[in-house]
Amino acid sequence: MAPMLRLYNTLTREKAPFVPIDPTHVRMYACGPTVYDAAHIGNARPIIVFDLLFRLLRHLYGEAHVTYARNVTDVDDKINARAAERGITIRELTDGTLAAFHGDIRDLGVLMAEDVNVAGERPRFVEPRATDHIAEMHTIIDGLVASGHAYVAEGHVLFDVPSMPDYGALSKRPLDEMEAGARVEVAPYKRSPLDFVLWKPSKPGEPSWPSPAGIAAPGRPGWHIECSAMSWKHLGKTFDIHAGGIDLIFPHHENEVAQSRCCFATDVMAHVWLHNGFLQVEGQKMSKSLGNFITLREVLKDWPGEVVRLAMLKTHYRQPIDWTVRGLEEAAKMIDRWYGIVGDVAAGAEVPASVVEPLLDDLNTAAALAELHRLDDPATLKAGAGLLGLLGRTQSARADSAIAAAGVDVAAVEAAIEARRAARAAKDWPASDRARDALAAMGVTVKDNKDGTTTWTVSP
Ligand code: AMP
Ligand code: ZN
Repeated sequence: MAPMLRLYNTLTREKAPFVPIDPTHVRMYACGPTVYDAAHIGNARPIIVFDLLFRLLRHLYGEAHVTYARNVTDVDDKINARAAERGITIRELTDGTLAAFHGDIRDLGVLMAEDVNVAGERPRFVEPRATDHIAEMHTIIDGLVASGHAYVAEGHVLFDVPSMPDYGALSKRPLDEMEAGARVEVAPYKRSPLDFVLWKPSKPGEPSWPSPAGIAAPGRPGWHIECSAMSWKHLGKTFDIHAGGIDLIFPHHENEVAQSRCCFATDVMAHVWLHNGFLQVEGQKMSKSLGNFITLREVLKDWPGEVVRLAMLKTHYRQPIDWTVRGLEEAAKMIDRWYGIVGDVAAGAEVPASVVEPLLDDLNTAAALAELHRLDDPATLKAGAGLLGLLGRTQSARADSAIAAAGVDVAAVEAAIEARRAARAAKDWPASDRARDALAAMGVTVKDNKDGTTTWTVSP
């Protein structure tokens, strides 16, 4: 029996014990990025938080017993516009953006397909792309039309919201509020202002696919249908956990629920809905117009991925985060202190219970990190930190990568150190000074040790 995990469920607005539908196969889905541009630091939050949940579930239920699907939205207005601007296909654009995204998140200590999947076994991590699931979208849309939950109008297929009596159960918004919001998008072909698009005609030059529901003209999917199709394909009609940022509760997740439940005639789509809080920057909402829009790539130029991960995990996932340089500096100090303790030891076999326990309480990362602070045994600390995706390297590997990151030419440094030693032995002070200046210019700090040896590190 796995120890009891409790999660706050947006669907019930309560923290409750997590009971998997099938404990031998726990299934979770998270809404992933729309790959039209570089990911920003806010996008990194769900990636890190739900990676932690994936790690915890693997720890509790066993690595072969958890499947995590995190989708990629690779068709939407912004993608289409950006690809048209550049004169490339959306696939070319999204392949490039997705590869860059992978490069960025790998630095954050996030488990990737190649880290967890085992050849010949059911995949443990999948990253489905919307445009690879058009057939599944057709099946759902046709099913919704056949069962009277969707209708065709002017080349669109629309979900008929009033056909679902408990529409709105996830976001719990009053109907009039939802209607007021939906009115922004009034369209003459909608029966109710709340009805939303499952499929729409493609404008000339836009990517298009054969349409469902007997529509002759080619078209393209709405956003919400993508996640119903991908979660069904990879996790089933009903699964355990569906996650995403808090901004997605309405309309995206509400509409996913409507589509999946009405198509498959189920009571729930996912049993537990988790939503991460938003990230703001130095006390302000992050936006392009305020000029405080930070890409993940920019942050990772200045800070190691582990520091970014720790800075993110210091705040409980449901709380808003204020992203500050100070928070990063504090995280960097903590990471340095821990590496000082763990050095090059291997992780202990057992993850300490004192670190697991707070995580069982709706991922209380702040308390888990406080527990890590109390650990002074290197192997135990390393095992505990490993569950949080931290301290994955050795102190030596860290030093080596600092050297590589600083672009230091190791052979040149060692030659200059040798020149300095020889000059000092010959009491040739001008030559010794030149060697010292050359080392400073290469960005390294030299230390003459008591035992007569000289060591060097990359200057901070
Ligand atoms: P998008 O690429 O905009 O669809 O967003 C991908 C994921 O990042 C979604 O789960 C969003 O909820 C999440 N997200 C976007 N902006 C932020 C933010 N500022 N803070 C936290 N999560 C965010
Ligand atoms: Zn989604």
